[in-house]
Amino acid sequence: MFLSIAKNKNENQLITNRELIKEEIILNFKGDITSQPSKYSIQIGKNEHLDVPERKMGTPDYYWAFLNHSCAPNTYIKNKRLIALTDIPAGTELTFNYNTTEYDMATPFTCNCQDQNCLKEIKGYKYLTNSEKEAIKNYTASYLKAFISQ
Ligand SMILES: [Zn+2]
Repeated sequence: MFLSIAKNKNENQLITNRELIKEEIILNFKGDITSQPSKYSIQIGKNEHLDVPERKMGTPDYYWAFLNHSCAPNTYIKNKRLIALTDIPAGTELTFNYNTTEYDMATPFTCNCQDQNCLKEIKGYKYLTNSEKEAIKNYTASYLKAFISQ
């Protein structure tokens, strides 16, 4: 297992312990499918969210629940897989942009990623402006795009 959890202040982080190559598949998401988002769930379909089964939090199959958001992430999610957006050195925290998978988040928060394009309030795709949607379109889940065309 080349992934591990590290604690930085009060925040858990998912770390890669080896170098990852751009477009490499890092992990396959598995979990319980639910109709409601939770703090840790990841949206996988229009009304489907993947959540960590009871008492499985912190076990390696569900390390994905420790993926933090970044407005300038180093991974993205496609077809229930986490993929390296770029080459990633060993020892780096893995992040993805929550707005590319989540429509309306259960637990919105204020981002402090320091990127020059940081959106600050991270609440889900629903709340993005058209230009903010445009900026992430290459990595946006197809079910989110379906929400627009309604
Ligand atoms: Zn940010």
